Amino acid sequence: MSTKQKNCTACKHRSAFFYRPYSGQYLCKKCFTESIDKKVRATIAKNDMFTFHDKIAVAVSGGKDSLTLLQILANMEKLRPKATLMAITVDEGIKGYRDESMKLAAAKCNELGIQQHVVSFEELYGCTLDELVANNKQRKDNELTPCAYCGVLRRRALNVAAREVAASKVATGHTLDDETQTILMNVLRGDLERLTKVKPVTDEVHPSFVRKVKPLCKIPERESALYAYVKKINFQSTPCPYASQAYRNDVRTTLNRMEEKYAGTKFTVFNFAERIQPALEKLERKTTYGECRECGEPASDALCKVCELLKKKR
Ligand code: SF4
Ligand code: ZN
Ligand code: ZN
Repeated sequence: MSTKQKNCTACKHRSAFFYRPYSGQYLCKKCFTESIDKKVRATIAKNDMFTFHDKIAVAVSGGKDSLTLLQILANMEKLRPKATLMAITVDEGIKGYRDESMKLAAAKCNELGIQQHVVSFEELYGCTLDELVANNKQRKDNELTPCAYCGVLRRRALNVAAREVAASKVATGHTLDDETQTILMNVLRGDLERLTKVKPVTDEVHPSFVRKVKPLCKIPERESALYAYVKKINFQSTPCPYASQAYRNDVRTTLNRMEEKYAGTKFTVFNFAERIQPALEKLERKTTYGECRECGEPASDALCKVCELLKKKR
């Protein structure tokens, strides 16, 4: 819908630059960014994401969502100086893609005076994601997509790095889009166990897992990008070369089509999952975690997912 000559619905006097279809609001730049800050603060408060003395590590990739999150939390930290903020960047080793986002992440941390800790697949696992993918292509018995590898290895890298910097929480830039995609993917795959794990704050399941929080879980991806644009945050806009191979991509397209036709669909899916979460948890037996016999990291089986994947590579 055009915002031409419309005044902002919130302040009533500045010109609107954005129409929010699911609420029917026309917003000026100031009211728009304030509404995002307010929503994030409300999500943090509602889910008790942080305590006063938390050491918060933000997972910063250099993309719009993680940089938007870092900016919002940095502004909040100024108001609440007791919590410590730092950044963790994982270098998966994706040629022609990661190099640029690494620079953007470093520049933003520098600008905000936030300490950045970089960890790479190469130093942790002895190989880059590109090498794993190339190796995988030569095998006929392995149909895992690059994202399947990347997701498991990055989660581990993030957790190891968070422990190294003694973080008490890891904040990730997962948006409403990421969350609803994950919910729908788990429904379509019939994966009840994983569905019970889609939450704004992860459960405390093992002392070696640093708890993760998702302050942007109620912010649509489009609005996270718009926030970055209005705040003049430089972010990487080229997509990962492996992204198109992901199952998630098809789910994203479906959800976006539904949202365009029926505004508010993503919120409906998110709120629905939130409401049935307590019932789901009663249905599904909780996964218990011990330690992987190879690497000693938390694992729900004898071997953790990382060791399983890296064995397949050999
Ligand atoms: Fe990793 Fe897939 Fe994301 Fe690329 S799109 S960074 S391979 S999870
Ligand atoms: Zn306004
Ligand atoms: Zn292991």
